Amino acid sequence: MTDQAFERALKRLDDAAEHVDVPEETLQRLHFPRAVLSVAIPVRMDDGKLRVFHGYRVQHSNLLGPCKGGLRYHPEVDLDECKALAFWMTCKCAIMELPFGGGKGGVAVDPKQLSMLEIERLSRGFIRQMGNFIGPETDIPAPDVYTNERIMGWMMDEYAHSSGRREPGVITGKPVALGGSVGRTEATGRGGFVCLERLAKARDWKAEERSIAIQGFGNAAQAFARLAAEAGYKIVAVSDSGGGIYRQDGFDVDELIDLKNQGGKIESLYCDGSVCDGANGAARKIDNQQLLALEVDVLVPAALSDVIDGDNADDVKAAVIIELANGPLSDEADQALEKRDITVVPDILANAGGVTVSYYEWVQNRTGDYWPIETVQERLEQRMARQFDRVCVIADEHDISMRRAAYVLALERLGAAAEAMGTDRLFNGA
Ligand code: GLU
Repeated sequence: MTDQAFERALKRLDDAAEHVDVPEETLQRLHFPRAVLSVAIPVRMDDGKLRVFHGYRVQHSNLLGPCKGGLRYHPEVDLDECKALAFWMTCKCAIMELPFGGGKGGVAVDPKQLSMLEIERLSRGFIRQMGNFIGPETDIPAPDVYTNERIMGWMMDEYAHSSGRREPGVITGKPVALGGSVGRTEATGRGGFVCLERLAKARDWKAEERSIAIQGFGNAAQAFARLAAEAGYKIVAVSDSGGGIYRQDGFDVDELIDLKNQGGKIESLYCDGSVCDGANGAARKIDNQQLLALEVDVLVPAALSDVIDGDNADDVKAAVIIELANGPLSDEADQALEKRDITVVPDILANAGGVTVSYYEWVQNRTGDYWPIETVQERLEQRMARQFDRVCVIADEHDISMRRAAYVLALERLGAAAEAMGTDRLFNGA
């Protein structure tokens, strides 16, 4: 993410404010994270040496409830990025009508360079340093880029050691065996898939006639790809940090997922022309830039932020972009794509399935009543479809992009909370 990520993120909110009558104070509140924690985490490495890692947790807003959002492990994590990501979580939770505010955090580390035991020590150390900053009523972390359910399990356990109480609701995205919710792992992908289905319905699309390219092949992308392929869509391209593969007739997604999760890089899974006639048939190797420029119906950036910017936005040929990643389009890209009438389902809606099932997990942890998978899926799908439709209605009414409409919806809810607290309208008797 580039400099001033938080400032740039706020600009989208200020733009949306033109379309909604909220107290000015709402914006004032949202322009500042409510609290920020920066920690040093000393970790004993396997070779006996000590390394100190830098970790952050930002609580952007608790206007609507305890702060909620993931923890990422990535070399580029910094405070500014965490502020922007925490702000997006505030908007995401507001759009999905969850009783949460927004938070985000992470550690500046390349987890691929660490052993499993080093990652466990780092994760436990991070939780110890976060001390009372987090808690089931105050701030509830979850997985994000390069963190997963195993890490969430360690963190929950470490929190229990420090607090002397087992409180599974302190963190979501845990393994099911440790109080996680069924359906959480695939929730982000499923939510994105609901968005695809709503769009397809509105456009009268037949799945079999539509092609999809997916940039990134982590947890969210895999679940999305599997559901889309099951519905009949052709997944013609996927990629990861090592490169991508393209096959005009579409891939067997289950096979790709198996290969990728066996530790393979997407790049090494490709087959060149006649060299490979396996189950996947001939596939062509492409790079990430080529993937973004493919002639497909739907493009799904599902990796990191700012992958489409002012330089490559004009290369995009897809009719629809579904942002499974957080912040994959820069402002310049947004403007360029809007001019060309490319529909963008914004991140704060498209990838909100994850935090929605995190909310269900938190509810289950607090009530002790665990739901079957059908209940989780049904509630997620209904909520996603309902909030997606609300965003579309706002976009139509105001003749604005879905992104702007999503912020309008978030602002309506945040504004109502600010209003309920009492604003100058109340105190000045206006
Ligand atoms: N990290 C995910 C997100 O960006 C999930 C957050 C959560 O479940 O709290 O939405």
